[in-house]
Amino acid sequence: MLIRTCLILLTLSSGLFSQTPDWTEPFPPHKVAGNVYYVGSRGLSSYLITTPQGHILINSSLEQSVPLIQASVEKLGFRFSDVKILLISHAHWDHCAGSAKIKQITHAKYMVMDADAKEIEAGGKGDFQYDSPENYYPPTKVDRILHDGDTVKLGGTTLVAHLTPGHSKGCTTWTLKVDEGGKNLDVVIVGSPNVNTGYKLVNNTKYPQIATDFERTFRVLKALPCDIFLGAHGVYYGLEEKFPRIKPGAPNPFIDPEGYKSYVAERERAFRAELKKQSGQ
Ligand SMILES: [Zn+2]
Repeated sequence: MLIRTCLILLTLSSGLFSQTPDWTEPFPPHKVAGNVYYVGSRGLSSYLITTPQGHILINSSLEQSVPLIQASVEKLGFRFSDVKILLISHAHWDHCAGSAKIKQITHAKYMVMDADAKEIEAGGKGDFQYDSPENYYPPTKVDRILHDGDTVKLGGTTLVAHLTPGHSKGCTTWTLKVDEGGKNLDVVIVGSPNVNTGYKLVNNTKYPQIATDFERTFRVLKALPCDIFLGAHGVYYGLEEKFPRIKPGAPNPFIDPEGYKSYVAERERAFRAELKKQSGQ
């Protein structure tokens, strides 16, 4: 765990994306709650939302993640070809590089937030921070451009796209309601509230409104009702600690409204500290 944490820190401090081993390490696929399933790797989260009319997949991850995601979907007893809609957390290659391949295999409709769509179709070119060849990914056609508050509906399930910008311009936090043991629960899949190393919050000519966008993100995240706390990486919500607590008869470990609140509060403090530092205060 310590080694993994160090690797993540190293990755973040490089200022560029570089892969950490847990991104491609398989992780047991599992039911989260209701019709939401985890089909990602140890380090990169992908979610399958199943419906009687086909499925929604959130995050295609890396190109080499696609066989792993497919195997996870099939292990749970679902068909990969039944994925009808593909969504992402944000336009960074660790969440979207596999999209072209998944579209090719499943013919899923790719739906992306407006402010991320241009980068997705350009394969990462034009990103305010990561516009260099080592961060590019296969350009992928977007079939539906989403706007803040838009809904994505399939087979009786409705997801809401919340624009939570800053980490990327179109970073998206997904919410839905699930029925778990007769209870109606609010699920939040956090897009990313992180100020990566190298991000310029002040005088950023490529993204002048970055700081106010992060402010907006924290406002949005704090206002969302949350029972089930999930995110684009398992480390956001403590996947590795929670997963072993899945036991018949035990409380669902992913129900964690307090964990969500303290995560958002901690990330906001980190943002404010960085903003203060960069403002020279
Ligand atoms: Zn990212």
